Amino acid sequence: MMKIELTEDTQKLSREIQSLTGENVNLCYQCRKCSIGCPAVYEMTLKPHEMMRAIQLGLEEEVFQSGTVWICLSCETCNTRCPQDINIVRVIDGLRELVMSGHVDYFNPHPEIPSMHRLFLKLVERYGRIYEMGLALILNLKMVDPFKDIDMAWPMLSRGKLKLLPHKSGGVEELRRVMSKIREIEGES
Ligand code: SF4
Ligand code: SF4
Repeated sequence: MMKIELTEDTQKLSREIQSLTGENVNLCYQCRKCSIGCPAVYEMTLKPHEMMRAIQLGLEEEVFQSGTVWICLSCETCNTRCPQDINIVRVIDGLRELVMSGHVDYFNPHPEIPSMHRLFLKLVERYGRIYEMGLALILNLKMVDPFKDIDMAWPMLSRGKLKLLPHKSGGVEELRRVMSKIREIEGES
């Protein structure tokens, strides 16, 4: 069995997460309730409880290369089940933030997911709401698979669940001001 000593170095990740999110992963005692309730666990290399342990032990590479941070749906089921009241979604958001800010640079097995997050925000900033058709089309083109899921598009279009063209929301200017303020704050920090 691999023996890991808890040194300043191994505790670096859990401390970073605590300072970013206020969440103390060291409270986790591996009851596994988070993983048992997680609807996306079947896609995860590191299940939520395993990820908490990996953070406690400072296993950065395992945490980031597992891709779990990008598979998580932010559904918060784990949060409601945790007997230690750890906000696991906030922990995962903290890990995402470390990646997006370029603070860590590990191989991501799901590079399309952060791309989707960025594109989602760009479209929301442009139209004040999400433009699903545009999001799907641009992502497909980026993945060099322009007709991916095309069979689902027509039934959704015919039922009005998907719009061909984007529609601007009335609150778009206000939203742009909010996003620009966020960028300003992030730039200061
Ligand atoms: S928030 Fe993420 S980790 Fe938690 S239960 Fe949902 S998918 Fe799983
Ligand atoms: S539910 Fe909470 S205490 Fe239990 S394994 Fe998950 S994070 Fe740890």
